[in-house]
Parts: sequence; structure tokens; C-alpha cells
Amino acid sequence: MRLVHVFVEHPILHLDHTFTYRCYDANVKRGVRVQVPFHKTSIIGFVSKVEEADEQTLAKYPYEIKEITKIIDAEPLINEELFALADWMGKTYIAPRIACFQCMLPAKLKPSSTHGKIKMETWVRICKEPTQKLTEKQQAAYEQLERHGCMRRSTFYQMFKSCGKKLIAYGIVESYEQEAKASLLESEQDEEKTLQPDQKKAMQKLLHATQVVSLLHGVTGSGKTEVFLQLAKKVLETGRQVVLLVPEIALTPQMVQRVKARFGKAVAIYHSALNAQEKYEQYQLVKEHKVQIVVGTRSAIFMPFDHLGLIILDEEHDTSYKQDATPRYHCRDIAVWRAKYHHAKVVLASATPSLETYARAHKGIYQLVEMPKRINARFPEMQLVEMRKAVGNSESYLLSNDLLDAIYERLQKKEQIVLLLNRRGYTPILRCISCGFVQMCPHCDVAMSYHKEEQVLKCHTCGHTMSVPAYCPTCGKASWRYLGIGTQKLEEFVQIKFPQARILRMDADTTGKKHAHEDILKSFGNHEADILLGTQMIAKGLDFDNVTLVGIVNGDAMLNRSDYRSGELTYDLLEQASGRSGRGDKAGKVILQVYDTQHYAIQSALHHDYLMFFKHEMRYRHLAGYPPYRYLVSLVFSHKTKKMVEKDVKAAMQILEKKENGKILGPASLNKLRDEYRMRILLKGKDQALLNHYAWDVYQNHITKKARTRLDIDVSPVVL
Ligand code: ADP
Ligand code: ZN
Repeated sequence: MRLVHVFVEHPILHLDHTFTYRCYDANVKRGVRVQVPFHKTSIIGFVSKVEEADEQTLAKYPYEIKEITKIIDAEPLINEELFALADWMGKTYIAPRIACFQCMLPAKLKPSSTHGKIKMETWVRICKEPTQKLTEKQQAAYEQLERHGCMRRSTFYQMFKSCGKKLIAYGIVESYEQEAKASLLESEQDEEKTLQPDQKKAMQKLLHATQVVSLLHGVTGSGKTEVFLQLAKKVLETGRQVVLLVPEIALTPQMVQRVKARFGKAVAIYHSALNAQEKYEQYQLVKEHKVQIVVGTRSAIFMPFDHLGLIILDEEHDTSYKQDATPRYHCRDIAVWRAKYHHAKVVLASATPSLETYARAHKGIYQLVEMPKRINARFPEMQLVEMRKAVGNSESYLLSNDLLDAIYERLQKKEQIVLLLNRRGYTPILRCISCGFVQMCPHCDVAMSYHKEEQVLKCHTCGHTMSVPAYCPTCGKASWRYLGIGTQKLEEFVQIKFPQARILRMDADTTGKKHAHEDILKSFGNHEADILLGTQMIAKGLDFDNVTLVGIVNGDAMLNRSDYRSGELTYDLLEQASGRSGRGDKAGKVILQVYDTQHYAIQSALHHDYLMFFKHEMRYRHLAGYPPYRYLVSLVFSHKTKKMVEKDVKAAMQILEKKENGKILGPASLNKLRDEYRMRILLKGKDQALLNHYAWDVYQNHITKKARTRLDIDVSPVVL
């Protein structure tokens, strides 16, 4: 007989210690999943330890040792490396071990075989001349289609909405299926390029690094991707494995394409948009040694490679590398941990490295590799437009004349335009001009945004929707005013100004469906549209030769956020968005509309001067006592009733107030979210281990007394 120690998953309690069971099956191994009885139910757990025992040992236990119901896996899912990693993650991020195991594995681990179907796409084309009289809009849609012959149906619908549907209903336009077209750029980019001198130097440095981690800091378009693809190839040739991480697959389809084109079928793709079966299949490819390289998002860092040679994090500054549920790990930390375990190397690549990373590179903890020049040797021309001067204080401003003229000019030349506005919806605020009332979400403390297409108000936090009230609930008048601008309004405005322009919008509202991102990007790359406008989604990773104008509509909007990172986020966004212009042979231009022209984040982006930004921002972080000078741990308590939250916060404060050497900020109330009250305590200090220790005490106390509030602990939060 064996005694088996099991980490269990329990929906309410977050237990971190193991429970002991009996087992008579010799096949039980450390690292497999088992089904066990627990109180009155049956739950799944991971075996952490197996020991031989006899009935006598069993009798020594003060309680009854129950028997394991079922062994689920024949082979361990968690190997020694992953056990050690979970251990470290649990301590570092203050999370139960079981949660760490869960996040390492694909949801589904039961084999069943299905083969990938050929992906089809729906396109539309004209099939007969209109016999009836068309409305003006329908006529416009008809002419657009006539000019271009055919287009993706999703693009057609997005551009022409109900008119498009009407044309199909009239039988003038028909839909048809065809095999999905790969992105245009695929064929251009499959062969390896001869590295330029800067790239060669970078490559040598990366190959011969003495440090575990290197930072490849290169401006957008400097050829970083080419460098790390060739580096990956070198590492693969030595028989070791490679992980290439990207922030979001949907936003970087070109990266996947380039890797696939380069390495053929031997690539696993792993990201959150795959369904459980697809994830399982990709995971198995790695486990069974069928592929040696994976491209994926955050969770791909846990792929079961056993001989890792290289981990690359592209756009390493991106906040999506931080997991937003327990365990709140940062992919960069996991990469470094695994690299050390495997004696592998980590390459962090970015045009706008996070302050933490650059500070480490500055100090020599990471190797710093710089690529300051663009491959085409040219930066886009940058133009700053001060909005107050350009449009006065008019609230209805959208685009300055400079930007309008530039758009007109590109449209004439058949070049493409990207417009960035970091706000979706039609207008962000609905206000009564008679009494000042602003319609808030009944479940969250945020203003409801107006969405004109659906004619509803939407909460961007919880998704709650409601129709626009006929009368103001406070004063009873019907004098609503729509304030601010969102992407829908921008689209409408641009369409009115340029009726001939074909516009695609990319934001959370147009990309809900699977493949929607990819379809929009493909359409744009295929020049089925002239203007791509949208939220920060469009700032990332796009490499379209024909884009020669990027307009940033509201460049400093993000500076007003209360987050200590607002400067960094603004700089990143502006620099990344500008990087989309003039990547090919044609000269590019960027027009940056702002109110605060003097802010260092704006000025640094204007001059593509990362170091200038870094120095200013570090000074601010130093004065204010924020990372990378201090560590932060955030403790958020939430519950439907305010009293409960206050009670548990008080208990936590009593524990924390006895501690020394750390600074406690708060407790502060946060916005209500989905009907939950929330309060945060922020720990701040120079000694991360000590802060973690304090947080552990609070956490332990919280679970032992079975507190009813939810406690979310975030070690080194990236957004506050
Ligand atoms: P980054 O990742 O730094 O933004 P990319 O690797 O995407 O830059 O390179 C920018 C552009 O330059 C791409 O279109 C790429 O194909 C091209 N490119 C990169 N390296 C070379 C090279 N050595 N020779 C010619 N073209 C290159
Ligand atoms: Zn809400």
C-alpha cells in the first residue's frame, strides 16, 4: 500500500498544504492527477509525493485515511522542473500551489484526435446589375464593390452595415466561400535576409552573452525580428528548443506567419484564442518532441520543453505579459527562472523597454544590445499639433486641418493611413446639460459610453447595456448631450469628410468574433481599405509597407490616468504607433495631436529618444518612490457588502501595522466593480522578500479565519 500526498483543488478554500490518501495501485506517481474524496464531494488533485506504507503506519494517523478514487493520468503532467517552478511561483506571487499547476497546463488533457479542417472564408461579389432604385448609400456600397471586384464579407458588412445586407437580400451581391487566403506578406517574407552590420553585431553579442538575460533594444523597424529569428535557427541547430513569446497573437498574425514561413511545419502555436482541443494538440506536439519551437502568448512559457536553449519575449514591455488572475505571474520572471533551470538564454526585445528592464540593463545585470537605426535608414517625419491652438476650446474638435490635409493627400496617392484613438464607442459620456447628471453604470462606478450603432449605453467595465433614458432621472428634462469622442464617432466623422475612403475600424466592438482581428488586418494589408482606425490594438506589430501616415488623434489622453505608469504607457503607445508609418520604401509621416506639448513623454516620443524618456521617468519614479526603486504589493479586498470589506481590511491593517520596514499606503476605496465594493492596501518597500512575507501573513490569516471577502494579491502589479 502507498500513502499519497495530494494538492487538491477546492472551489472555496485556497489550501496550500497537501492531503493524504491511501492507494493500492502501483501506478500512482508524483505529478499525475487523481480523483479523491473530499468532505462529502469528490475532487481532482495533483500527487506531490508517494511513500510506501503498511497498515501500522496508517493506524498512527489520528484521522481516517481515505482511498484515492481514480488515477487520471498514466504519465506525470507535472515534472520536477514544473514542481520546482510552482514552488517558486507560490512564494513569489503568493498563490496556492494548485493554482500554479493549473496555469501551467492546457485546460483539457484528454486525448482525442481531430485533424485541422481547411479554413474557409466568406467573400462577396456582384452577381447582377441592380434593377431597382438604390439609396445613395446602397449605390456607394455597390460602386465600391464594383471597383474592387470582391471583398471579404466581414469587411463588406463592417464598411456598409445594413446597406451591404440589403444588397445581398436584393440578390445584387452574392456571398461565396473560398479557401482562406494567407496574409499577403507571407510569400515576401519567407526567406532569410542577409544581416546588416548592426544586426550582425547584435547577433554576435546575443550568441555569446555571459549574462542569462539580454535586452535587445532596437527602434521599430530596426530588424529585431530578423535577428531573433536567425538566432532561434542557430539554437535549434544545436538541438535545443526555442520559445518565442508575443503579446497577443491576434494582433501579431504577421509574426506567426514569419516564424511559420521560416521554420515550416515544425512550429507549435499556443495562445488563448485556441479552443481547449487545439491547445491540447499543440501541447502534445511539444510533449511528444514533434516540434522544437513554439510561438505563443503568455501561457506558452509553460510549454513542456525539456531542453530549452532560448526564450525570446518580443515587445517585452507589454502589459499582457502579466497574468491578471491568481497566480499573478509576470511572464518575464518565469522566462528567467526557466532559462536558469535549463542553462538557456533569454532575449527581451523592444523598442520601448519597460523601465524595470532597461534599469537592469543599464546596471549590467542584463546585457544591453542596441539597434538604433531603421533598416530603411529613415524615421517617419514627426509633426506635433497643439490642439488648443489648432481648434481653440471647441469640444467638437476631432482632427486638425494638418491631419485632414495629410489624409487627403495620402488618399490621392493611394497610400494607406492609420488613425489611433484610444477610446472605443461613440461618445464616452452622456450628460444632462440642464442639471449636469451623468449616466453611470448601476453596477460599477464608471460613466456609461454611448454606442451609436446599437443605440445603447454600454459599461466598458462590466458590459452592462441599457437604452438611453428618455428623460433625465434627476431633473426630468430631455436635454442630453453626448460628450467626448470614441472610435465610432471618429469613423463617422472621417467618412463624412472623405466619402470615397474605405474605412476599417478595429476595436473591442469589431473584434469580438474569432479571427476578426486577423480578417481586418488581412483586408487592410490587401488594400481593401484605405484607412484603418482604432484603439491601441492597431499600434502593435503591424508591418504594412503602404502605410505612410499615422495620425494620433488624442495623444495625451492617457497621461490623465491616475496610474504611476501613465507616462510610460503614453510613451510606449506613441512610439509604437509611430513605428507603423513609413516601414517600406515610401517616406512616412506621423501627426501627433496633443494638448500638453511639453510633457516629457510626448517630447521623447516626438524625437524617438528613449533615453530622454528613461531619464525623466526614472527621476519621477525615484521622487515618488515607485518601481524600479521600490517594490509594490497590492492587496485588494472585495465583496458585495461594504461592511464585510471594511471588516477584513481592518483585520489586515492590524497585522500590517505591527510590521516595520515597509510603507503601507491606504487602505483606499476603489471604484465599485460589478456590484462589488473594493478596497486596496498597497505595500511599498525596498525589500521584496519582506513585503511578500507581510502579504503572506495577511493571506494566511484571511484563509484560516475563512473570511468571506475575496482577497486578490498582486505582487509587482503592472497597472494600479
Ligand atoms: P523590428 O522587429 O525591429 O520592428 P523587423 O525585423 O520587422 O523590425 O524589420 C523591419 C523591416 O525590415 C521588415 O520589413 C523586414 O523584412 C526588413 N528587414 C529586416 N532585416 C533586414 C535585412 N537584413 N535586410 C533587408 N531587409 C530587412
Ligand atoms: Zn458596469
